[in-house]
Amino acid sequence: MPHAGATATDTVAGLVPAAGSGERLGRGPKAFVDLAGTPMLVWAVAALAARVDALAVGVAEVDLERTRALLAPWAARVDLRLVVGGASRQATVQRLLASVESDVVVVHDAARPFLDASTLEAVIAAAREHGACSVGQPLADSLVRAHDGAPVDRAQLRAVQTPQAFRREVLQRAHEAAVRDGWAATDDAGLVWRMGHRVAWVDGGGHLFKVTTPGDFALAEAVVASGAFGVTAPAAPGS
Ligand code: C5P
Repeated sequence: MPHAGATATDTVAGLVPAAGSGERLGRGPKAFVDLAGTPMLVWAVAALAARVDALAVGVAEVDLERTRALLAPWAARVDLRLVVGGASRQATVQRLLASVESDVVVVHDAARPFLDASTLEAVIAAAREHGACSVGQPLADSLVRAHDGAPVDRAQLRAVQTPQAFRREVLQRAHEAAVRDGWAATDDAGLVWRMGHRVAWVDGGGHLFKVTTPGDFALAEAVVASGAFGVTAPAAPGS
């Protein structure tokens, strides 16, 4: 069933790449690391499941069974598909995309636990209108070029985060072009841009940071403990 606000034919699927090895954090795959007692994957899934009709989650093959058990409460609420991830994030997203039929897809990293409803809504709405939308975070530090130290105007730059939303056929074409022409990108909006399609941008936020290093994880725990950004731990549906 489409959610309120969508037309009868306008369905939305969430795609969650969660098949990384988490080498830089050093605690096994990040998606399964407990943040305030709840695996990071569950934080991301809970935020998406409140909004989407279908959800595809990509994990390593060895993690399929524990993922199925972990996400069982959400499988009753959304059409949940588990997919074996690929060797890169891009390959994982390509497989996730192939597993859903929705009109709009929203890609969100399992390693970004603090997805809020209003950002999610904003990227979905802009993707409906423009075909592609990403969040981008304005930068606080001064910036220079690494090779010669020349200052770069930070007002012109954004750090790319997720969520990113697309009309499914737009992202499909971008991934097909990537396979055909050998493009590699660390995010999906980058592939869509490379195809020559406009990407709309909405401001992200400090809360959408990716947990990569032990320092990031300590920050994530502090966010939960302090309730910063209005963050609260996810509750299973019906609980
Ligand atoms: O490694 P990095 O932090 O950039 O990964 C971003 C997201 O992509 C993470 O949620 C990670 O689990 C996912 N990923 C994936 N498949 C890979 C590598 C990363 O789904 N092969």
